[in-house]
Amino acid sequence: MQESQALLRLQEIDIELMRLNGQLKAMPQQKKLAAIVAAKKNLAGKLKTIVGQRKDAEIDLEDNEAAHEKTVNRINEVQAEAAERGQDFRGIRDLEAHLTALAKQLEKIEFKHTELEANLEKLMKAEQNARDLDARLDAEHAAQQESFDRSSANIMASVRQLAVERKAVLANISDEVAQTYAKAAKRFGGLAVERLRGNMPTTCRVKLQQGIFGELMRGPIITECPYCHRMLVTEGALADE
Ligand SMILES: [Zn+2]
Repeated sequence: MQESQALLRLQEIDIELMRLNGQLKAMPQQKKLAAIVAAKKNLAGKLKTIVGQRKDAEIDLEDNEAAHEKTVNRINEVQAEAAERGQDFRGIRDLEAHLTALAKQLEKIEFKHTELEANLEKLMKAEQNARDLDARLDAEHAAQQESFDRSSANIMASVRQLAVERKAVLANISDEVAQTYAKAAKRFGGLAVERLRGNMPTTCRVKLQQGIFGELMRGPIITECPYCHRMLVTEGALADE
């Protein structure tokens, strides 16, 4: 295969690959898959917050229960002390005042415990809901992916076939020309190479002046269009007339 022919075929292959990739991207499953990924990301952020709050709530509850135990122990100690003192009237009164204060403290701790338990329960439910939603999103993602794979099988087969041909075609193109092509393809949105038909390039379609045309025809087969600066294959310019 001649380099100029290989170059033109390379462009055809790349344009076809772009078209097929466009088809793949436009498939309805792709939009849904992207939405699911976005929803999962959003959910992961929320879940992280909830887990943090749930852990804090567990610590708060543990602290409350430790305070409860400590207060109960203190009450038992004071009661034991009171029983020991027995007849010491003044001492007993002080201990009773102390016991009353401790009982109030215990009541407050118990009230707070109910609140903390409800809070923890609420957060655990929220966490479970988030995890359930995440599992549903995973299942939906798998279903959409399967549907996409099924629907895109033909396109993917063409893509693979073209990729193989592209490699074979590239073997006929020098590194220098391949690099120029890659840059031009990027710059011109895929339309990197044009041909000459008579004295007119096929893409920019600016008629070449006689002098420039003659000069190009005497130059290399693969050159550059003097107007649009795409790659220009001059071979066959006159045959097409
Ligand atoms: Zn041109």
